[in-house]
Amino acid sequence: MASEYTSVPRPAGAVPPPALAREIVAVSFTAAGAEAAQGWLQLSGPGTAHRHIRALRADADTLAGLGGVVQDSKVGVHLAFSGPRADIYAARAQAVRHGALDAEITLLETGAADAQVYCAHCKETTTTQNDVGATAVCSGCARELVIYHHFSRRTASYLGYMAKAEEVI
Ligand SMILES: [Zn+2]
Repeated sequence: MASEYTSVPRPAGAVPPPALAREIVAVSFTAAGAEAAQGWLQLSGPGTAHRHIRALRADADTLAGLGGVVQDSKVGVHLAFSGPRADIYAARAQAVRHGALDAEITLLETGAADAQVYCAHCKETTTTQNDVGATAVCSGCARELVIYHHFSRRTASYLGYMAKAEEVI
């Protein structure tokens, strides 16, 4: 899991909208994503039509709708996906499956904040970009920790237990 995330290239969020696009369709996830998409769309020229589709997350319904949008779009339509990394990459994969080219897609990543994981075994805190439910390798004891929903306000970290803890207790 972890290596999949670290091998993902950073999205080129700073690239402005293409000047020659006939229409730009932005799909945003979360409020922060909508804000980023709105700001980015304002950079496009007055001659470019644009649409902004807002969604909370890239779930099955949203992705199905997106597939239809991509299929119906004509030559010269540029796509932009804005929001958390997992959502925008899911959206990109769906668009490519429906015939979009990478060159026609802009990714605007928001909120890729690092999370802290507190190791229940050695009390060390590890920084990760992995999500709750995924695993992270502890920087203190090298155990593979499952990142639990349990969040400590005191240490501003999530609780991590060894992935196969039940086998050793
Ligand atoms: Zn540890």
